[in-house]
Amino acid sequence: MKIIMLGAPGAGKGTQAKKIAEKYGIPHISTGDIFRANIKNGTELGKKAKTYMDEGLLVPDELVVDLVVDRVQQEDCKNGYVLDGFPRTIPQADALDKALAKLGEKMDYAINVEVPDANIVNRMSGRRACVGCGATYHIVHAPTKEENICDTCGGELILRDDDKPETVLKRLRVYHEQTQPLIQYYTDKNILVEVDGTVDLEDVFKAIVRILGE
Ligand code: ADP
Ligand code: AMP
Repeated sequence: MKIIMLGAPGAGKGTQAKKIAEKYGIPHISTGDIFRANIKNGTELGKKAKTYMDEGLLVPDELVVDLVVDRVQQEDCKNGYVLDGFPRTIPQADALDKALAKLGEKMDYAINVEVPDANIVNRMSGRRACVGCGATYHIVHAPTKEENICDTCGGELILRDDDKPETVLKRLRVYHEQTQPLIQYYTDKNILVEVDGTVDLEDVFKAIVRILGE
């Protein structure tokens, strides 16, 4: 099963992608996580990506396409995968499509997690990310057991720089301009499905499971 998660920043793509990966036993591939790991490790890719990420802008297509095309051809992807945060532009989607066509493959579902802009800024200001392992929480909707301490690795939790309200507004503008057109793109390919992302995160997941099957 090959799945793309679509939706605004903060819609809950990562939250649902992790649950899908666990239930269906497929890898969760988050380009945002890959860039953050590269920043943490001080790689050249990380240095380049950071300048765009800090501004709330998209990293150029050429820095992200090959990385994903290589990743989906690894052994653990042979039964499928869930892409989170990729594609984010029409050229990225076209490049993925072409690369998969060469392998005789195609995506099965593009799941659009719908959340109105009005809810997003609030949601992002409550998101906390672990500096150690990158796990994400929400101070109200998905709290840790102990305040400010990651349940998974015991690391410290922070508000990501790009989750500060002024950057979130910019990311939303970028989303509407560059990423939202993918909804029509995948509708035209007959693989778009939509779920209401404003309900409790367990209910969002139930709606996804109804679509993907038990
Ligand atoms: P994305 O990957 O789309 O940027 P996340 O999955 O990181 O978004 O979710 C953004 C924030 O909202 C996180 O703090 C997450 O815990 C919280 N969240 C996710 N889904 C829901 C939901 N259905 N209701 C309330 N909060 C949610
Ligand atoms: P995310 O964790 O998915 O919200 O991504 C955080 C940031 O990483 C984005 O705001 C972009 O700057 C960058 N990024 C992640 N995925 C992509 C992508 N597919 N194309 C371009 N930039 C990306």
